[in-house]
Amino acid sequence: MNDLPKLLEAISFAAKKHATQKRKGADEQPYINHVLEVVNLLANIGKVKDYDVLIAAVLHDTIEDTETTKKEITKLFGATVCKYVLEVTDDKNLPKDERKQLQIKHAPHLSDGAKQIKLGDKISNIRDMSENPPDGWSKERRLEYVDWGKKVIDGLRGVNSNLEKHFDELVAVAREAIEKP
Ligand code: NDP
Ligand code: ZN
Repeated sequence: MNDLPKLLEAISFAAKKHATQKRKGADEQPYINHVLEVVNLLANIGKVKDYDVLIAAVLHDTIEDTETTKKEITKLFGATVCKYVLEVTDDKNLPKDERKQLQIKHAPHLSDGAKQIKLGDKISNIRDMSENPPDGWSKERRLEYVDWGKKVIDGLRGVNSNLEKHFDELVAVAREAIEKP
């Protein structure tokens, strides 16, 4: 059974795994800021209380973007957490377009825990697209990202009304901010 000390252990674990990584924005924020934003959104907007979901949110990009293995996560945080992390992990062997399409296709079939992590992840990334976008991305590319993110989220609705409302409000604000001359 996971608890607050395990959540803190997961934060420390993720901080070490992502230690050398930066976000793609011009201000090159430490990657862990994104991870912390996602778990914060789940706890404080989504009112998620399940420690397995919160811990998986902290670890959601470790397998995809660092050397972390399934075995490590299972040993330290249990099989349920590992299952959630794997559900939100893209197969980087596939071409990017295919990965994007698969996220849309898989969204309706994710567990409720994974759906909530996806919501937090897309909220964080779409906010960044508006306020702190990847360096060199055109308006069109940022808007395409918002449209794609909305397609993913539209396939998993009905799991957390607070996060979904927050997402919808953000999409409207982000589109307006990106379109602004
Ligand atoms: P990527 O997947 O390469 O980049 C977006 C991902 O980067 C996010 O999902 C996020 O993932 C991570 N990320 C890191 N830093 C930031 C940040 N500051 N802001 C937001 N996200 C960040 O995206 P694509 O290259 O696939 O492009 C997205 C869209 O643009 C697609 O719809 C694609 O078709 C389109 N496109 C348009 C082009 C154009 O020139 N018009 C060219 C190429 C693509 P995580 O949470 O995992 O870190
Ligand atoms: Zn992420």
